[in-house]
Amino acid sequence: TFKAVVIEKGEGGGKGEINQRVSLQDFDEAGLMDGDVTVRVTHSTLNYKDGLALTGKAPVVRRWPMIPGIDFAGVVETSSHPDWKPGDAVVLNGWGTGETHLGAYAEKSRVKGDWLVALPAALTPEQAMAIGTAGYTAMLALLALERHGLTPESGPALVTGAAGGVGSVAVALLARAGWHVVASTGRAEEEAEYLRGLGAAEILDRQELSAPGKPLGKERWAAAIDAVGSTTLANALAMTRYGGAVAACGLAGGMDLPTSVAPFILRGVALYGIDSVMAPLPLRREAWARLARDLDPAALSAMTTTVPLADVIARGPEILAGRTRGRVVVTIA
Ligand code: NAP
Repeated sequence: TFKAVVIEKGEGGGKGEINQRVSLQDFDEAGLMDGDVTVRVTHSTLNYKDGLALTGKAPVVRRWPMIPGIDFAGVVETSSHPDWKPGDAVVLNGWGTGETHLGAYAEKSRVKGDWLVALPAALTPEQAMAIGTAGYTAMLALLALERHGLTPESGPALVTGAAGGVGSVAVALLARAGWHVVASTGRAEEEAEYLRGLGAAEILDRQELSAPGKPLGKERWAAAIDAVGSTTLANALAMTRYGGAVAACGLAGGMDLPTSVAPFILRGVALYGIDSVMAPLPLRREAWARLARDLDPAALSAMTTTVPLADVIARGPEILAGRTRGRVVVTIA
């Protein structure tokens, strides 16, 4: 057996919520799912989606019992996959782990070798998980904006949900690349100094973006990375400069998108959708290589808190309440 956080389905349940029990248990190795690589997990993280799974606030978990945790760093223990051998240091993000496939909050995980990326030589496993799925998604968003042809010379870049995980990494990456970063946060009083430390040039109170706005507003930024969705994303689009682009990657403020076609047809603004879960391997490798090269290690450490595996359960409600700053690493071994 090995230690794992396990979600079990309960009976009944209140209206609109999933009845479940979450506990730290000894998990029988025979209960692991099929896969050609078994990994000794050393670190995982807490992402927004993990918060949804741990609390049952949204139907993230599709199989019971489930070991939650959508990302890990670890060392290959056994492998029948041609690319991996025992001792290899690996990183995994998404592919349904913690949702349909037993996940990362465990000392062991068995997965498909095709899902794994080699831990970049410049990163420790702790650093890779300080980045985690949130940071890798921030890089996917930046790559989309760059492919659009945007550079720091194009104009400012907006980051919404800036004090969260995706947001913190996005602020640090954009600032280091030379962008003038406008960081939108609901916690300006507490987190302005933190965000300026990551490289934000301006702090915007998120209320300026969360109230329903006009189809077109003043052109304030050339690029945006949005972790919030809903009216915030609509306003981000409405205030994007002619020919600019917005990368949408989150729904912390809501799943809806009450926008109009005005930014698209009158300003040629583009909206890119960012998905980290099923992103193809070459894109993942590119994102991790860029993270290893471009993310300032001091900024990464400034945004990171570390908790032991047993404590991650209590952190679920915290991240959903928007009370988590930056990134949370979960130490497993
Ligand atoms: P997180 O650390 O909780 O960050 C979310 C941030 O959004 C919060 O820190 C808060 O920032 C802001 N926020 C929270 N509730 C809000 C509300 N009601 N209205 C407006 N802003 C709100 O979560 P995360 O792990 O970075 O994930 C961020 C989002 O990206 C989540 O929706 C997640 O599901 C999504 N995501 C998507 C992918 C993908 O593949 N597309 C991958 C990773 C994450 P402030 O306090 O600074 O305002």
